[in-house]
Amino acid sequence: MTTPLEEEIRLLIAAEGPMPVGRYMGLCLGHPRHGYYVTRDPLGARGDFTTAPEISQMFGELLGLWAVAAWQQMGAPGLFRLVELGPGRGTLMADALRAARLVPAFGEAARIHLVETSPVLRKAQARALAAHEERAGEQVSWHARIEDVPAGPAIVLANEFFDALPVDQYVWTGAGWHERKVGVGAQGQLTFGLDAAPSRMAPTLAAHLPPPAPGAVLEVMESGPARALAGRIAAEGGIALAIDYGHAGGHGDTLQALKAHRFADPLADPGEADLTAHVDFARLALLGQEAGLKAFGPLEQGDFLARLGLAARADRLMRDAAAAAAIAAAARRLAGTGDGEMGRLFKVLALAHPHFGTPPAFDPSEEFNR
Ligand code: SAH
Repeated sequence: MTTPLEEEIRLLIAAEGPMPVGRYMGLCLGHPRHGYYVTRDPLGARGDFTTAPEISQMFGELLGLWAVAAWQQMGAPGLFRLVELGPGRGTLMADALRAARLVPAFGEAARIHLVETSPVLRKAQARALAAHEERAGEQVSWHARIEDVPAGPAIVLANEFFDALPVDQYVWTGAGWHERKVGVGAQGQLTFGLDAAPSRMAPTLAAHLPPPAPGAVLEVMESGPARALAGRIAAEGGIALAIDYGHAGGHGDTLQALKAHRFADPLADPGEADLTAHVDFARLALLGQEAGLKAFGPLEQGDFLARLGLAARADRLMRDAAAAAAIAAAARRLAGTGDGEMGRLFKVLALAHPHFGTPPAFDPSEEFNR
């Protein structure tokens, strides 16, 4: 069965030739009618994958307390933008705002801005935040792009946002970086191939990475959102926290498809599976530094949550004996370093305005430099 999106991709390839991997990924995730995120809520047990805020309320609560500390460090401005990129079901923001009620002035100063393209998930976010809107007497705003968030100092949270941005791929053949493209094979199936001519841009994009061995894959994330975010914080003040699975600069093909919690072929059923790539935190840090920000990390998620007090929060919740086993399991899943646990695979990078100082839970020695 070919999906409607596959038909459209074949027509595009027939007309224009093989397409960059990033264009393919962008269509699969964001096509206005058939895109994966446009047509469904992909999260949770019945969806295709789950995320830290969906595993436990502790994740959003600890990030809420981190945001309060960041706001205090900014001098507790009377109005600021609390922004989330790709908020999913709105669970993280709802948990964060509930925890932040410990410091009422934070909630009074916060204007909530959600950057989200998916109409389905915007509805879920509205439901999750309805109670906050009622309490605060203030409407949450939605925006399609970071550029559309109004001016003012900002605290920006992004969990599993950057991994959903399209990546282009280049393969080192020994003679150059050749762009990997999606074409149509002899049997009419979608297939990967390489451009015959080496890319002229790729050497610059690979400059922060170690020298490649033949077959090495360079992945380059679409930089627009990261540049917009960094430019905004440089101009208006504040800090952003990006949490994702990824590495601090290396080679490898990390494009993956997930369907019903299992790995799938990224070229099968376009628009029906989640496509992601590991985040290159070194590139994200460098994009921030280029805009004049300071970058800290990446820290491992397990260490970051430990510093924010995960153990104490879990102990508190475990006083409810009926929930204790589930809480302990969730804490292990979020911060553990074993197979299938997120503590080491996921990393945390902070991008801060130069006047901000060292971000809460980071150490000055953890400033990123390469
Ligand atoms: N942060 C949530 C959801 C992660 S899934 C969580 O941790 O549970 C990725 C999220 O990013 C979804 O909300 C998706 O709709 C959104 N998204 C993906 N690409 C986007 C883009 N280009 N612009 C804005 N939002 C995007």
